[in-house]
Amino acid sequence: MTDSHGVTEREAFDVQRAEAVVRLRDALQGVPVYKPGRPPTVVPDVVSYKMSSNENPYPPLPGVLEAVAASAAQMNRYPDMGATALREAVAADLGVTPEEIVTGTGSSGVLSAIVGAACEADDEVVYAWRSFEAYPIMVALSGARSVQVPVTAEGRHDLAAMAGAITRDTRLVIVCSPNNPTGPVVTAAELEEFLAQVPADVLVVLDEAYVEFVRDPEAAEGLEVYRSHPNVVLLRTFSKAYGLAGLRVGYAVARPQLAASLRSCVIPFAVTELAAQAALASLSVKDALLERVADLVEERGRLLAGLQDLGYDVPDSQANFVWLPLAGHTQAFAEAADARGLSVRPFPGEGVRVSVEAPEATDRLLEVAREFRDRMS
Ligand SMILES: *Cc1c(COP(=O)(O)O)cnc(C)c1O
Repeated sequence: MTDSHGVTEREAFDVQRAEAVVRLRDALQGVPVYKPGRPPTVVPDVVSYKMSSNENPYPPLPGVLEAVAASAAQMNRYPDMGATALREAVAADLGVTPEEIVTGTGSSGVLSAIVGAACEADDEVVYAWRSFEAYPIMVALSGARSVQVPVTAEGRHDLAAMAGAITRDTRLVIVCSPNNPTGPVVTAAELEEFLAQVPADVLVVLDEAYVEFVRDPEAAEGLEVYRSHPNVVLLRTFSKAYGLAGLRVGYAVARPQLAASLRSCVIPFAVTELAAQAALASLSVKDALLERVADLVEERGRLLAGLQDLGYDVPDSQANFVWLPLAGHTQAFAEAADARGLSVRPFPGEGVRVSVEAPEATDRLLEVAREFRDRMS
């Protein structure tokens, strides 16, 4: 007997049996699945906007496409194993040495190497929740346990509770500032107080994926914190402000010895030459970059103020997105936005994250929010 694909029962059984005998790590059971932001639904006669993935709405910066095109001609060659030029440029930009830079396939790639370097089965990783959805996935894959400390009602890290959650099994703490998806930063004062309570042998990752968008003068300055705490590692990316999400390049900043160990955990040749050249070209036009970031920050302010004026309880955001804690109304809001050609990122039962896009997208989102509020009241 064969099924519609011409597969005999015997063959199907053999496949099943072959799958059943392959042994994989127990840790793989219960690893959450990453849900990417959806593209917008096409609505006739309206320009649709993707506001679901915190991407940069701008095209590549001047000179970037040319640099990528030039390096594409060399794609038969492996990239520079040490990503030397990129590490030198990043180091010069930050005022550190290239020995302190660890590059990888997006900062997610670097973070996965960090978790792998720090954690064994049954170790604990402390981080705020809700935060970046890649954290529980990476921790679960390592076999370590996630210790999730709820954010406050204002979407801020509860650093006192996080300090209290550290045990002898804690190997890694992740602090996300600004926090994705809620938006607020951790302040310099509260981070200092927190770090004073973290044992010196526990690694602290400060995830600064949105650092370029921060305007709060109280915000913790990663580089300053890094200089005074040898157990702090900074995590940064070219995906958000620099608009290179599709090329996958990010980095960590760590003390030289620690950085060398972390580099040994990153997949060889992780950063392609195309990605490295795009990052280099982007770094060389920093003024143009900062102008775009300033425009997005202004648009964020308009979105935030507009939603607050409509009566929404939106926490302060220092990133390129805002958070609407809509609880049970989350799905309905996402559907209302989608019907108008705007895709947002719903976290069912919790809230909606809306990425900053073009001014027209802000205007339309505020219309959706007004209609939604009127419908609900
Ligand atoms: C987007 C994001 C990252 C990194 O993304 P990559 O594209 O892998 O560099 C890291 N942390 C947070 C909090 C993010 O939102």
